[in-house]
Amino acid sequence: MAGSDWMRRAACTRMEPDIFYPVGDGAYAREMTEIAKQACLSCPVRAECLRQALETGEQYGIWGGMTPEERRDLARRDMRRRRFAAARMRGVAR
Ligand code: SF4
Repeated sequence: MAGSDWMRRAACTRMEPDIFYPVGDGAYAREMTEIAKQACLSCPVRAECLRQALETGEQYGIWGGMTPEERRDLARRDMRRRRFAAARMRGVAR
C-alpha cells in the first residue's frame, strides 16, 4: 500500500489495522470483519483499494470491503465472464 496516493484518503488510516486482518473464523473474527466492512462502506477510495487487492492477488485481510474469500469468488466470476466473452468472440458460445 505504501506509495499509493489513494491511501492518504483511506477511511482506515486512523483505525486499528488488526481490525482489517481478523484471525480465524470465530465470533471475534466475524465481529472484526463486520466492523472493517462497515468502515469500507463509507470509504472514498474503496474502488481503488479493491482494485489493488485484486490486481496484486492480496491473500489476507479486508480490502475494499471484501474478505479474501469474497475477492477470490469475484475473481473467479470475472475470469468466467472473460472466458465466456472470448468464446463468444470466437463463435464457440452463444
Ligand atoms: S476500502 Fe476499507 S480497507 Fe480499503 S482503504 Fe478504505 S477503509 Fe481501508
